[in-house]
Amino acid sequence: MTVYAPPGTADSLVSVQSRYGHFIGGNWVEPKKGQYFENISPVNGKPFCEVGRGTAEDIEAALDAAHAAAPAWGRTSLAERSLVLNKIADRLEDNLEMLAVAESWENGKAVRETLAADLPLAVDHFRYFAGVLRGQEGSSSEIDENTVAYHFHEPLGVVGQIIPWNFPILMATWKLAPALAAGNAVVLKPAEQTPWSILKVIELIADLLPAGVVNVVNGFGVEAGKPLASSSRIAKIAFTGETTTGRLIMQYASQNIIPVTLELGGKSPNLFFEDVLAERDAFYDKALEGFTMFALNQGEVCTCPSRALVQRSIYSDFVPDAVARVDKIVQGNPLDTATTMGAQASNDQLEKILSYLDIGRQEGAKVLTGGERNVLEGDLAEGYYVAPTIFEGNNAMRIFQEEIFGPVLSLTSFDDEADALKTANDTLYGLGAGLWTRDGSRAYRVGRSIKAGRVWTNCYHQYPAHAAFGGYKQSGIGRENHKMMLDHYQQAKNLQVSY
Ligand code: NAD
Repeated sequence: MTVYAPPGTADSLVSVQSRYGHFIGGNWVEPKKGQYFENISPVNGKPFCEVGRGTAEDIEAALDAAHAAAPAWGRTSLAERSLVLNKIADRLEDNLEMLAVAESWENGKAVRETLAADLPLAVDHFRYFAGVLRGQEGSSSEIDENTVAYHFHEPLGVVGQIIPWNFPILMATWKLAPALAAGNAVVLKPAEQTPWSILKVIELIADLLPAGVVNVVNGFGVEAGKPLASSSRIAKIAFTGETTTGRLIMQYASQNIIPVTLELGGKSPNLFFEDVLAERDAFYDKALEGFTMFALNQGEVCTCPSRALVQRSIYSDFVPDAVARVDKIVQGNPLDTATTMGAQASNDQLEKILSYLDIGRQEGAKVLTGGERNVLEGDLAEGYYVAPTIFEGNNAMRIFQEEIFGPVLSLTSFDDEADALKTANDTLYGLGAGLWTRDGSRAYRVGRSIKAGRVWTNCYHQYPAHAAFGGYKQSGIGRENHKMMLDHYQQAKNLQVSY
């Protein structure tokens, strides 16, 4: 097991400057208003650098740079763009350990996950879009004997992208890779809680991109995000974040009639049918592991299976086993590879989760494990740790209906398949879902009937680049991942020529 040194300390893999500006037109620039904000590590609750506090003027400067760069980038050949994306992937892979430590330090997540999942997925995402790009062909069709229609894919031009804090590097990658592959220039606004790990990525890859093709403006939602999303100078806004913010983004975009991609919140159900307990074998063990997935990434995952539904006939046997498995989660220093669960990403998020622990109790839900802040020892005492928590209650409760975005599971039972589906679909959201059964036809039937964009059967939390990802209902509009993203970042141009 390894315990990584905190970034900025003598033995660390990761250097830290005291201040970071924006990245605009290939240069590191000061914020126009000269203001900075503190970046705090949730690992110990202490500030570790300052980051530029962007405003509309910084967004304008970034849009100038992006517009200057977009035409030439959009004219590069597929082969050239593909090569750049592959070089970015290689550069990230060569520095994977450094970036994994940076992301854990800034976000609070366990470094074993950033090493094994977040960063490898980010690398693969660039490789995937470098590959599918090469297969994108235009076409032509004859309208009559003298007229031919040509179908082209044209870049949109300059696009805006706004991302959250839960997977800073991966969320940036999900946005950047397809937009760049499709030939666009980008203005990206990271979340104010986690700007730095993305800036570490930019430091690494800046020389691989023409100036102005990727621009990063840091700052807060209303001050920097709103001027970007409401600008008439972007051709698309791609947003990941809360459903309430997504509604605002749609309003801003409607002023300019531009397309939106919205990846929003979730309240994903995880269904355990009685046959999982037919035997206490490897399958059962996997199902128990699937139950603990609500605490992956400290529960700060949009597809977090935050509602568990267990068939009544096995409830009294299954639940004690499942709670015992949750109690094996090792919460501790995120930079220790032995740790399986780290800190919540910010103090605001900590407070929000603690308030839901109160709400759950007030609603009459029963705490089966956890239920409070976890104060760790020594340097970590001021960090933002919450014990993995299981509430037993019913689907009408707020803790079953509202996205908590923390390691808090709301557990209830169901009678049969119809009852399970009714409860699973009784939510505003429709992003992810899980179901566990040994019965293949039930897996298919129930999987098709859950109203969610991603249903995992007998597995959970896998995000291959080629699998379309996105939400039904108030979990969003559009998809990410999958080669269809190239179309989402391009115009379909039809040119008809009469010869
Ligand atoms: P958030 O909506 O508060 O913030 C997301 C981003 O939007 C941040 O960069 C923020 O600065 C910016 N923002 C806030 N207000 C804005 C405004 N008025 N105009 C423009 N930009 C604004 O969300 P969050 O708390 O950072 O992230 C957590 C949420 O993200 C959860 O709801 C989670 O489910 C969701 N999420 C969804 C997916 C998905 O793929 N569906 C993935 C990850 C996270």
